[in-house]
Amino acid sequence: MKVSYSRLSTFRECPFKYKCLYIDNLWYLRKDKPYLSMGSSVHLALKDFFRLSKSQHTFQNLGRLLKKNWMRKGYKDEKEEKEYALRAWEMLSQFYETYDPYTMPLMVEKNFEAKIEDNLVFSVRIDRVDKLPNGGYELIDYKTGKNTDIKKEDEDLQLTIYYLALQCRYRIRPTRFTYYFLEDNKRVTTSRTKEQIQQGLANIKSIVRKIRNTKKFLPNPNPFCSFCDFGEICKGG
Ligand code: SF4
Repeated sequence: MKVSYSRLSTFRECPFKYKCLYIDNLWYLRKDKPYLSMGSSVHLALKDFFRLSKSQHTFQNLGRLLKKNWMRKGYKDEKEEKEYALRAWEMLSQFYETYDPYTMPLMVEKNFEAKIEDNLVFSVRIDRVDKLPNGGYELIDYKTGKNTDIKKEDEDLQLTIYYLALQCRYRIRPTRFTYYFLEDNKRVTTSRTKEQIQQGLANIKSIVRKIRNTKKFLPNPNPFCSFCDFGEICKGG
């Protein structure tokens, strides 16, 4: 079974939503949303920026790349789009001024699959990996939402999947994990022991087993229902 962080976290949030997306493939019901377009634009700008040579890591180029990658979908009018564009530029400006913009990452926005075990394939999209001066590796994830906390269980899920996928496919073992919460210009760094990774893998297998054994994918009303694209077809939301 193909496993990704978004698949597993969606199942945990709401089995019915999981079924809509990953079994019935109702992706076409998803609506464009301003915060999703803004988030993708910021990720694309950072991807292109860190693929430039070091001498081209200028403030002007970052602005140019945000403009080039700006996604116009989902805004109700020009005013709303301008507000989001300003927010995106503020995030990137703060990021540029606070952290090292001259870093040359080892990997930038990498999509790949890794066969962890028979019947268990991880599918990931990793924002960035840096090689550290001490020989270790730092796995970096950019967050563009307003929420500057990540739930412990979501963090465990995401970091375990990314760690094992990198180790399996590229023989890279991250020694540091860093989230950049761009809206608040906050950086949070953490690490994982081998035991924590093994425990994380056991949790992932338990969710996968649950998905395989689920007969009825029932709705699970939760605080995010008002943002959900499947509310109209869901009888429990
Ligand atoms: S509206 Fe809520 S309960 Fe219904 S599918 Fe969406 S997340 Fe699940």
